[in-house]
Amino acid sequence: MRILLVEDEPEMVSALRAALWRHDMVVDHAGSLLEAEGFVAVDGYDAILLDRQLPGGDGLTLVPKLRAARNTTPVLMLTARGDTADKVDGLDMGADDYLAKPFAFEELLARLRALLRRPAAIEAQTIRSGHVSLDVGHREASIRGEPLALPRRELLVLEALMRRTGRMVQREALMEAVFGLDDEIQSNALDTHVSRLRRKLSEADGGVVINGIRGVGYLLREIT
Ligand code: CA
Repeated sequence: MRILLVEDEPEMVSALRAALWRHDMVVDHAGSLLEAEGFVAVDGYDAILLDRQLPGGDGLTLVPKLRAARNTTPVLMLTARGDTADKVDGLDMGADDYLAKPFAFEELLARLRALLRRPAAIEAQTIRSGHVSLDVGHREASIRGEPLALPRRELLVLEALMRRTGRMVQREALMEAVFGLDDEIQSNALDTHVSRLRRKLSEADGGVVINGIRGVGYLLREIT
């Protein structure tokens, strides 16, 4: 699961990042309205957690833009404003659900799970590049319908690269996707996982190739 967290309060960001990571979710973070617009323009997310009061304006203004671009990613509004008029505004503008701060993390998780069960979200859980299919929800990869057994970290690398097929994924983003917030990890561990994955994809004729730029990141390309 890949979640976009749009939130400007550092303490809230680190608490949510850590908690979501523990539940196997990969988190990208945007700290302002402008940054969030950049993220949603290029990336596919399973859900967006959206704060309202952001540097640059009201987070809610992002939602009509998403929907106009036929982006159906579920949006869960997070806000300090808890009154009814604000909730109605949020839902009217296309947000899927609303959670007033402070909230219990368990409630956030329950609401996320409910959003992710919706049909649009379920469809989006299978992503494809070349001959490779990845069922993100069940963490299963296959090539031309044949299961491809991969260890968890290689699956996480594959997911991060496939979600941005044809685009460079920076080392930092991959490190976070694969290892989370554990900063004890050596940076070259990432390269080891990538090269194992690259070999397996090539041996199984995955129709994709992984290119790397030293010190910058990796990119998965379709070669079919
Ligand atoms: Ca805020």
